Amino acid sequence: MTALHEMTLSGLKAGLDAGEFTSVEIVSALLGRIESLDPQLNAFITVLGEAALADAARADEARARGDAGPLCGLPIVHKDIFCMRDVRTTCGSRMLENFVSPYDATVVERLAGAGAVVLGKTNMDEFAMGSSNETSWFGPVKNPWDPACSPGGSSGGSAAAVAARLAPAATATDTGGSIRQPAALTGTVGIKPTYGRVSRYGMIAFASSLDQAGVITRTAEDSARLLGVMAGFDERDSTSIDHPVPDYVGELDVALDGLRIGIVRQHFDAGLDASCAQAVRDALAELEKRGAVLTEVDLPNLDYCVPTYYVVAPAECSSNLSRFDGVRFGYRAKDPEDLLDLYCRSRGEGFGAEVKRRIMTGTYVLSAGYYDAYYLQAQKVRQLISEDFRRAFADVDLIAGPTTPTPAFRLGDKTDDPITMYLNDIYTIGANLAGLPALSAPCGMVDGLPVGLHLVGPHWSEGRLLAATHQYQQDTAWHEAAPEAFR
Ligand code: GLN
Repeated sequence: MTALHEMTLSGLKAGLDAGEFTSVEIVSALLGRIESLDPQLNAFITVLGEAALADAARADEARARGDAGPLCGLPIVHKDIFCMRDVRTTCGSRMLENFVSPYDATVVERLAGAGAVVLGKTNMDEFAMGSSNETSWFGPVKNPWDPACSPGGSSGGSAAAVAARLAPAATATDTGGSIRQPAALTGTVGIKPTYGRVSRYGMIAFASSLDQAGVITRTAEDSARLLGVMAGFDERDSTSIDHPVPDYVGELDVALDGLRIGIVRQHFDAGLDASCAQAVRDALAELEKRGAVLTEVDLPNLDYCVPTYYVVAPAECSSNLSRFDGVRFGYRAKDPEDLLDLYCRSRGEGFGAEVKRRIMTGTYVLSAGYYDAYYLQAQKVRQLISEDFRRAFADVDLIAGPTTPTPAFRLGDKTDDPITMYLNDIYTIGANLAGLPALSAPCGMVDGLPVGLHLVGPHWSEGRLLAATHQYQQDTAWHEAAPEAFR
């Protein structure tokens, strides 16, 4: 029999349904793996040992009673950005190092309601700001494919845990690429849904007009399973949209015949590593063999995505992070002289360098005299970028390209140069600025490191993205490759 840690969510569900093993057995096996292997990766901030076993036992009882929800007894992990009741929720920051949430995020609540068992909370860049997991107060995460490399960020812990078979599925969030870039660099599937598809309630805010929750798994089918549970209207999030949730799993078998895929001309320019470009071209040829029709499309404002994002995201973060003041929650500096000293030192000591850089940039672009020149201008360019996508989707059903310009880079390689780090998200940020759903799937290997294929669709096309990827995964085996040390 396939070892439990090698099985996908779908495989585990089938085994549970057939009575081949119990949830307690799955959870014990994975907790054992986390204990012995995670010290090499640092993918977890908190491991929920006893609590997970108790949840698994409850799931087994529910199943025996004939009362199994869609994810009953299936193991998952949560990015440590989602508030979970009575569990430490750090957001990768010293500011929240000892913060225990008094409530559940909607995502946490819905997955638990469907019967999922949470093994732990995963490491991440501080407040989701980063592309390498190196800004985490809890130390960097290592890439299971090469421990000298970064797994990407900010959802690096979730991606590494799934790639290393410490968990079959993880929640994650994406403000500019934080689900898709780590998925690409670890050989996993990551989907960022349409803005408003999944509730942001209880998900610690970075940039509210860009943040969206999604998942990292090994197959499109598993992503479909989780997304179907997470998605849907939530009156507690004013940006949640009341739009019907389709049966993502049921729609996976839609054939690729006639699917029009646009290849972005600007994606294959000088910035893209030649071997990544080849892997992506091969993947596109595979989709074509299955019936997809390839054409070229233009995104003329692509070059403005990163600069626009680095005005809008810091502006929103400077406002969102003002709540961490040493008074209400989180880190509080010792022996303050007065209130101002309390504010200044709590924030000075509680936040790391990248977070401070974003707060300062954001405060600057929002300040009187600069607001029009930077913030307002960025909002206008954001509109132009959305228009580019709208025009492209008049002719094609999906847009395809690379997820990242290169495979995983070495830890420490980009930490001294924020601009080079920011350029990692050049292909992913557009989807956030335009609120579009997008997905990365493994499509090749370069020197032993995975490469990601990036697909973007029109609003609400999650089902189409998942089905196209599922069809691709029927004929290819990149998603089955496992890093040597974690088989
Ligand atoms: N890497 C980008 C940043 O640092 C995106 C992060 C994210 O998507 N959360 O802002």
